Amino acid sequence: MTDLVRLSPVDFVSFLRAEKIRRFYLVYDPINEHIQSSHPQVQPLAKFIGSDRRDFAGHEGLFFQVTDRYDTLQGGFVHRTCRGQAAGGVRYWTYNSVEDYMRDGLRLAKGMTHKNALAGLWWGGGKGVMARRPDVDYDNHEVRKYLYSEYGRFISSLRGCYITAEDVGTTVADIANVFSRTRFSICIPEDWGGSGNPSIPTARGVVCAMEAALEFLKMGDLTGKTIAIQGMGNVGGPLIRFLFEKGVRKIIACDLDARLADSLRATSIGLDLEIRTVSCGDDSIFREECDIFSPNATGAVLNPQTIPLLKTKIVCGAANNQLEDPSRDDAALFDRGIIYVPDFLANRMGIVNAANEQYGYVSEDPLFERHMSRDWEFSIFQTTLRVLRESKETGEPSGRIAVRLAEKLSLEPHPVFGHRGRQIIDSLVADRWHQLA
Ligand code: NAD
Repeated sequence: MTDLVRLSPVDFVSFLRAEKIRRFYLVYDPINEHIQSSHPQVQPLAKFIGSDRRDFAGHEGLFFQVTDRYDTLQGGFVHRTCRGQAAGGVRYWTYNSVEDYMRDGLRLAKGMTHKNALAGLWWGGGKGVMARRPDVDYDNHEVRKYLYSEYGRFISSLRGCYITAEDVGTTVADIANVFSRTRFSICIPEDWGGSGNPSIPTARGVVCAMEAALEFLKMGDLTGKTIAIQGMGNVGGPLIRFLFEKGVRKIIACDLDARLADSLRATSIGLDLEIRTVSCGDDSIFREECDIFSPNATGAVLNPQTIPLLKTKIVCGAANNQLEDPSRDDAALFDRGIIYVPDFLANRMGIVNAANEQYGYVSEDPLFERHMSRDWEFSIFQTTLRVLRESKETGEPSGRIAVRLAEKLSLEPHPVFGHRGRQIIDSLVADRWHQLA
């Protein structure tokens, strides 16, 4: 039998077409600890995932379709829905193999369970993943319109067990196309009644997490501090502005994109901002002597090559999945005495910003602002302090503490709807979702 996980997404789509499979699912049966697949042809994938100990964590259901045009593999990964519908963005990215694609979806969905639970949202965790193809011009407006509208139809077919949103490779304009076909999406454009781009709230949340880490170390506030920032995009750019407003002394920031450097230079005249345009693999930013190192680019940047280079007291940024290997790298930072604020705690404000979209808006929304307050028990500030103090008391790395806390919260049932997401998944299986339109 073909080793499906080793195929490229393009070859996998050809395989599915040859088998006349347009939609398929892999659904976990927790009683028999078994993954059920919709078709015997994809059973090897169920076997692969079921035997994986790294990224599979009892994910409730994984759903896939191939689009009629542009042969694109689209997926919805539902990790856990005890607290409510699985929520998390849809990523549109390039993957070398089906294994890479599956692992990314599994890992990101579980990460959303932790982020949503730790933020106290009545949501479970999920993620969407669409695989880019080299033969599809994914910058083309018409292509995107089609792919994201189709993704919206796919999301509708899942009956609300997964709520999608913006993520890497997806824009708010793309979400408008998703929304044209489903009610189960957030981060909708503001003039459509949605919450729009989540990046500015995300940057504000990172500032709160930095302040908590400084407080934990009894280093005072951000005034006079030196910060090194990797990535000056949607989050990193506003973060630089907010940090200067807080009185930091110096910022050293880098990005691959020279255009960002030019525009930031123009707005930072008179401030001590050192900007570098770097090439991929350039590790100079890790070597900067600073109070806080802030990763705001891509994932897996903290690993055995980079952690020994750090000359910082704190790591705190928005990038998702900063640790290449969560348990190994969390421990390595701890052993070096570097305070690590778990990414899913520091970057929660993007999802918090969109979480209550359907309940309407009030100015300076207290439900939103309390996350950035100093006193609310579940605020970023208080949660960061709690995690760091527990880490110090127990001698365990902070990431492990935060995951434990989030796991516990994620198993609490939604106060009104209970574990309804699981019921939705069971009904999709019973109704033979994979054979419906
Ligand atoms: P973005 O794409 O706008 O910005 C990322 C920037 O990092 C880009 O400008 C890119 O050129 C740069 N970059 C990539 N690799 C680099 C490298 N090796 N060195 C230096 N720069 C590099 O993305 P964003 O929306 O700003 O998000 C940044 C990170 O935060 C991502 O990991 C994202 O998943 C995470 N995040 C974002 C939000 C949000 O609200 N936007 C919310 C939660 C988490």
